[in-house]
Amino acid sequence: MKFENITQIKVFIVILIAALSVIAIQAAKTVTKVDIVSEPTVENEWFKIAENIYQFRYQHHYTLFVTTSNGVVAFDPLSDEAAEHYVKAIKQVAPGQPLIAIIYTHWHIDHSSGARVLMRAFGDHIPVIAHERTLLKLKRWNDPDIVLPTKLIGDKGEALRFGNMDIELNYIGYGHTDTLLVARFPGSFFSPGLVFVVDFANNDAVGWQDLPGWYLGELIAMQQRLLKLDFDIVAFGHGLPGDKSTIRRQTGYYLNLITQAKLVLQQGLTEDEAVTHIAPRLKRYSDWRFYNKWFHLNIRGAYRWAQGIKDKA
Ligand SMILES: [Zn+2]
Repeated sequence: MKFENITQIKVFIVILIAALSVIAIQAAKTVTKVDIVSEPTVENEWFKIAENIYQFRYQHHYTLFVTTSNGVVAFDPLSDEAAEHYVKAIKQVAPGQPLIAIIYTHWHIDHSSGARVLMRAFGDHIPVIAHERTLLKLKRWNDPDIVLPTKLIGDKGEALRFGNMDIELNYIGYGHTDTLLVARFPGSFFSPGLVFVVDFANNDAVGWQDLPGWYLGELIAMQQRLLKLDFDIVAFGHGLPGDKSTIRRQTGYYLNLITQAKLVLQQGLTEDEAVTHIAPRLKRYSDWRFYNKWFHLNIRGAYRWAQGIKDKA
């Protein structure tokens, strides 16, 4: 490349800097591979998914913790057994740092159990943050081993700040209990925006069993509300992170499922007939996780939901 004069050189440098900035931002906003920081075992592992943001996996459950300038904030402790390993993960990633808050994503006990184990390791006076109806549900559940929330979030959500880390807690619908909070970590010029989504969407996986008590219309509406939030990466409660296209694929799956369920109902088919009729039509999902285990049950769940729609479809 030859330059005729100094102005051409200046223009070239400006263009080069702009191009490199775009490449750097794109690289920062794309999760190609999670950054494993523990030795993964069958049972548990932990890994970095963005600057200061980590996921911990215990069996099929994933939770998330962040390191801030004031200490660590840990989401769902999952269970007493999981929390024993969760303590190790936090201490390895942030040695000597205090735990400054625990946040429950929703009341279900496979996510809200185990806080006592974290408190035994990090101190008794750690605030436990959750949606206000999580407290009501857990009081009713009445398990003395589950630590009740001490700071409550309403339907309007709340933007919290821990040291140098902003964490926005959003309530976006009742598709998976009326207690679920979606955490959002706003992005910056160099780091991607991230949301933590538990149970109402997943990474290329079919739904749980026969979708017991799931409001499918509201579930889809929630996924659409989620897409309106500003983020690049979505971390899940059951599976590896994805992006907005992962959420769109989930919505496509549930829309296909309920469209098929409504059609077979119009045709007067029974639930068993619905399974044999719909399964070959949605074969494209056969490589999704839990397909062999739960796909036929998902059809039954969608059929029953379509029989007595209680939410907007
Ligand atoms: Zn749940």
